[in-house]
Formats: sequence, structure tokens, C-alpha cells
Amino acid sequence: MEHMNDGWFIQKSPLWPGQAMSHQMEEVLFNKKSQFQGVMVFKSKTYGNVLVLDGVIQCTERDEFAYQEMIANLPLCSHPCPKKVLIIGGGDGGVLREVVKNPLVESVVLCEIDEDVINASKKFLPGMAKGFFSPKLTLHVGDGFEFMKQNQDAFDIIITDSSDPVGPAESLFKESYYQLMKAALRNRGILCSQGECQWLHLELIKEMRTFCKTLFPVVDYAYTTIPTYPSGQIGFMLCSKNPETNFKEPVKALSKEETENMNLKYYNPEIHKASFVLLEFARKALSEA
Ligand code: SAM
Repeated sequence: MEHMNDGWFIQKSPLWPGQAMSHQMEEVLFNKKSQFQGVMVFKSKTYGNVLVLDGVIQCTERDEFAYQEMIANLPLCSHPCPKKVLIIGGGDGGVLREVVKNPLVESVVLCEIDEDVINASKKFLPGMAKGFFSPKLTLHVGDGFEFMKQNQDAFDIIITDSSDPVGPAESLFKESYYQLMKAALRNRGILCSQGECQWLHLELIKEMRTFCKTLFPVVDYAYTTIPTYPSGQIGFMLCSKNPETNFKEPVKALSKEETENMNLKYYNPEIHKASFVLLEFARKALSEA
């Protein structure tokens, strides 16, 4: 395996040239070529079990919450009544776990292209896969781009928790996909997508922000810090059909008690606001987009 060397998993990729995150491995637990990608799970020395798709780390048991809580709660807490939610991707179940915690959410559809990812997560990432057992869930196995075409005016929130813009997820970073999401969103609907990293993909983020601003009255970009992802952080593209939306101020600020009851370890209303404060080079670049 080109990513393994002397008991270490080394995450090299042309998506982050010249750098590589490594995790010391204890044991490979699962390794299969699915219809769409290589699916591997290994037990790491200090980050718990780790899910890898086509050589790219998707999540680790130790720090996944930093991503799952943010990509779920940034949109949910920006919408006055997020009853119907759609998740595209999300095969590890972590975003789903966070979404179903919200008492305002009545139903969640999750559309994941690769059933092997779901099954591997249920077996090796039970802390994330618990969301798959929620009564609020309708599970659909298929391509999110195709699924979006069959839905109009259907969802209050659409979360695209996809892998990177290569392989099966490539279409999910295109303007045509955002046009489909706009049609699938109800009035006042909000979307939040995995938006790559300001240290690594600023040109892509600028390009996406530019076409999003032609489609939606409100567009913003936030980020989370997470040790495992390249450069230690990853961002989120947020769009709203409601011109009144101000993503920087949660319309529903969770109380300390709610944060406690939801067992949140990263997200809170202050972190919500702070996550939109970008590094100066990124703020400047995106202000020109
Ligand atoms: N949190 C991770 C990140 O930020 O990169 C993503 C985790 S989740 C495992 C990504 C999921 O997107 C994978 O299970 C993958 O199979 C799924 N996926 C990729 N392309 C897809 C598509 N076109 N439709 C539906 N799911 C897709």
C-alpha cells in the first residue's frame, strides 16, 4: 500500500502537495475496493479507529466531533425551524448523529453513494454510526447529484458532507450541483457544504463563493480546527435563500444546558460566531470574490 511505511499511515495526495499527515498504525481492520473507491479502516495508536477513502483520511474517532458538530450546527442554528434535513454523503454517520440530536428536526434523509462505507462505519466506527439507528432517518443509497434532481422544494437544510472534489464527489463541488440544491431547498432554506481548507484550496473556495453569490442572497464561509485534516482545519460553504439570514449570529443560540444535553464538545454559540472570522489573507481574497 503506497500510504503505509514502517507502521505509519502517510496521507500523501496531490490535493495537498508537499505535505502529509501521518498516523501511527496498530492494525488494519478493513480494506476493500468498493464499486466507487478504496475503503479502509485502521486502528491508530492515538486517534482511535480511522476511516480512509482512496488514501484520504475521512474521520478519526478522536477528533471527528470537531467537524461533525460544526457542519451540522452552523446551518441548523441559522434556521428558525429546520424540520426537514437532507445529508448528501456522510457515510460514516457522524453528521447524522449530530443532526438527529436537534429537537426541531423532524426528518432526515441521508443519500450516500457507497454502502460499503456505511457498513464499515457500523462495524468499526459505532460512535459515529449510531445516527443510522435514529427513527427520524430515511436512508437512500445512491449518487447525491442524481438524487438532488428528483427533489424540488423539499428540504429546510441540505448538508453536503462529501469527500474531496475527486472521484465520486467531484460533481458535488460544481455550480450545477448548487443550482440543484437551490431548487431542492424550501423557502428560507439553508445549505452547508464541506468547503475545503483556506490554507490549501483558496482558489477553489473563491470560485465556489463566486457562483454561490449568483445563486443565493446570502453566502458565507466558516471553518473548524481539526488536527487530522490537512493543515489542521477545514471549512464550510454556507448559503441561504432567506435574505434575512446572518450566519454570523445564530438565530437559535443553544443554552449551556442544551449544549450539555447534546453532549457537544466543540460547537457552542461563541464558537459559531468566531468560526466566521477568517485569517486575513483568506478574508481579503474572499472579499474580492
Ligand atoms: N468528513 C469527511 C470530509 O470532510 O472529507 C467526509 C466524510 S464522508 C465519509 C464522505 C462521503 O461522501 C463518503 O462516504 C463518500 O462515499 C460520499 N460520497 C462521495 N461522493 C458522493 C456522491 N456523489 N453522492 C453521495 N455520496 C458521495
